[in-house]
Amino acid sequence: MQLSELTRQFEHFWPRSAAEEWDRVGLTVGNPNASIKSVLVSVDLTDAVIDEAIAENCQLIVTHHPALLRGVNSLVEGELKGGLVSRLIQSGIANFAAHTNADVQVDGATSELAKRLGLNNLKPIVGIQSGFGHGVLGTLAHPVGLREFAEAVAKQLPVVARKIAFAGDPTKSITRVALCSGAGDSFIERVLETDADVYVTSDLRHHPALDATQTPRVNGNLALIDVSHWASESLWVKTAVERIASISGIKGVASKVATDPWTEEVF
Ligand SMILES: [Zn+2]
Repeated sequence: MQLSELTRQFEHFWPRSAAEEWDRVGLTVGNPNASIKSVLVSVDLTDAVIDEAIAENCQLIVTHHPALLRGVNSLVEGELKGGLVSRLIQSGIANFAAHTNADVQVDGATSELAKRLGLNNLKPIVGIQSGFGHGVLGTLAHPVGLREFAEAVAKQLPVVARKIAFAGDPTKSITRVALCSGAGDSFIERVLETDADVYVTSDLRHHPALDATQTPRVNGNLALIDVSHWASESLWVKTAVERIASISGIKGVASKVATDPWTEEVF
C-alpha cells in the first residue's frame, strides 16, 4: 500500500484534529509514494528501533513520541536528530507519530491500563476532544490497600530498571483511581478536584508530588503512584499493532526494544 494511502487510514485511527496544539503528529520522515508492507510500532524512535525495523523488513515505523517534537535547525549526521533522520532516509524507512491524538482514543495506553486493572465507570480526567479524553477516572470493584494496588499496577507493566514508587499510607483504602499514562503531572490540579483516592502517572517531580500529597481534601489526601513513562505507554504498542494489522495487506510488528532510558536502580 502507498504510504500516502496508509496515512489516510491512520487519520481515521488517530485524527490529527485530536492532537494537542503543541504536538507534532503525523508523517515525520518518508516518501508518500513509497510502498509499505510492514509497519513497526514503538514508543520512541532510537537507533536500536531503526535496527529492528531493518531486521524486520519494515518500511515504516509508527512511534508514540514524535521524533521531531521540538524545532530542529540542522540534520547533521553524527548528531542526535540528524543521525536518526539520515538513517531513516538512507534505509528507505518512513516515520509517523501518533501521540496525544492516540492518547485520547478508547484503546490508548491509559484506557488499556485501566482495563487491565479492572476499573469500571471510566470517564476522562480532562474533557473529550474526540473519542475518549486525557487520563481516566474509574472505580475498582473492591477496595484494596494502597500498597496492594501499587503491586497490582506493577504486575500490569513490563519490568524496567526503576521500581514503582507510591506516596501515601500503605494501608489507605483505594476505590477511586485516576490514571494517566506518560507524564501526567499537568493534570494533578484536576485530579485533586475529583474524588480519586490515588493518581497513577509517570515522571512526577518533587514539588508537584509533594504539594499534591499535602493538599487537604474532603475525601482524604491524594495518594500517588509513579510508574515508568515508557512502561506505561508501551501498552499502546499492542493496541496500535492491532489497528494497523486490521488494514488489509499490511503487517503490524510490535517493537521488542525497551526504550526506557534507565539501566539500574541502586540503594
Ligand atoms: Zn509519553
